[in-house]
Amino acid sequence: MKLNESNHDRDAAGMTYVYPVVSRRARGVSIGINLNPNNACNWRCAYCQVPGLTRGAAPQLDLAKLESELRQMLTRAQDPAWMERHVPEGSRRLNDVALSGNGEPTTSEQLDDVLGVLERALGECGLLGRLRIVLITNGSLVHQPRVRAALERLARLGGEVWFKLDAATDATRQRLNDAHLDSRRVLSNLIECASASISLSSK
Ligand code: SF4
Repeated sequence: MKLNESNHDRDAAGMTYVYPVVSRRARGVSIGINLNPNNACNWRCAYCQVPGLTRGAAPQLDLAKLESELRQMLTRAQDPAWMERHVPEGSRRLNDVALSGNGEPTTSEQLDDVLGVLERALGECGLLGRLRIVLITNGSLVHQPRVRAALERLARLGGEVWFKLDAATDATRQRLNDAHLDSRRVLSNLIECASASISLSSK
């Protein structure tokens, strides 16, 4: 199957947790990790494109399976023949690994463990410190200690957070995201996110 910029099918690789995407913006391949194969999220955004979205959290993950899929995909993506077969010319480069999927990744109780798996797989493939790691989140659970711990690990790995903020007012966010999160909480979660990396860099 040839990947293209409009194909964001998370089943493209026939895997449960890992999928490749060609990013138009980055002109490269992003390897996605889907922690929500059950299509569950703690929000219900008006524009959400997750098929059959349900309100809820990520399920218990099979970390051994995730690690195996990740290794396979990282190996494939470093193979020029695989790139040539599956990726359009001009985008045949590995750009990042993104924790993003069919729901909010920070609802997974195993987020920190997943980052540990990712660290090991990147290390074994010689990509640790060379490949960007991105956590794409709605930011609503950053105040939870287990999420904070995962953010600190992410910062140690040199990763980054893309924090969704759709509107400045509580009422508009409520309408767009179908989520109760007042502005003080949004701000403190943003600060918490930033400070996870600042506190590490000052240690
Ligand atoms: S946060 Fe993302 S996955 Fe969750 S409902 Fe909104 S767009 Fe969908």
